[in-house]
Amino acid sequence: METKMIRLLSKDKQVRIFMIDNTSLVSNLIEQQQINKVCQETLAKTFTISNLLCGLLEGNQRLSIQMVCSNSSESIRCEVDSSGNVNGYCSKALLESKADTIAELIGGRGYIRITKGSETGSMYTGCVDMPYQNITGDFSNYFRKSEQLYTAFQCYYDCDKSQKVVRSRGFLIQLMPFAPEEHLTKWTGWIDEHKMMIEQLPLEQLIPKVFKVADIMAIQPIRLFCGCSREMFYGMINSLGEKELSDIISKKQTVEMNCGICGKSYSFPYNEVAGLIMGG
Ligand SMILES: [Zn+2]
Repeated sequence: METKMIRLLSKDKQVRIFMIDNTSLVSNLIEQQQINKVCQETLAKTFTISNLLCGLLEGNQRLSIQMVCSNSSESIRCEVDSSGNVNGYCSKALLESKADTIAELIGGRGYIRITKGSETGSMYTGCVDMPYQNITGDFSNYFRKSEQLYTAFQCYYDCDKSQKVVRSRGFLIQLMPFAPEEHLTKWTGWIDEHKMMIEQLPLEQLIPKVFKVADIMAIQPIRLFCGCSREMFYGMINSLGEKELSDIISKKQTVEMNCGICGKSYSFPYNEVAGLIMGG
């Protein structure tokens, strides 16, 4: 079934509410990586929040979202664009982490960095620490500090004993400019009160039951997509130094390259590398 994000605006025009059930996307994403339970939940939540952020983009904007743990080689990277193409992956070091909880994994010196690419190609980067060590609170804190926007995130994630993803849902609640601050706590409280329905009901059924004081502004398809291919890396191989290239060929090494968007790794054995330099 296609994954869709539903974007609502409260009838008083004070609050935007986005919701997504991305259970199938998270299952597919997690199947692609060897991952323990804590990393799985950390990736699911970071990815779900990143999916919700698609709804805030315009034109052909894209966001690169990084969640970096205290041990800075442990990180999650998500890429999303305004058309609803999303991706996310854990760094190799994070996959090997032995942390027992998300808070332990993030540690005291974690941070979130978000880079926005706009139509003109200009980039803006915000970087904010993670005092809550629980992802949802930290992303709220990021928006407050970096964008001066009151935003709350709620994620509902569940997996069974064999780590199969049972449920992944996310909600974004954001105050419109000049809306009174108490609207945020009012809405998060309201969602908490209806937790049972929020977790179980199909999203469409939630609207008349839980969000009847809001109107649907848009329904946006969200899909796992990366346009990477082996060919994309040919230029990078050709741009390696002469010494490095001759070493690879003489020592019969294999070059490993990773896509920066989906994390997929591509390997190029020395004979392919040799063919590429001859050809290019
Ligand atoms: Zn890729």
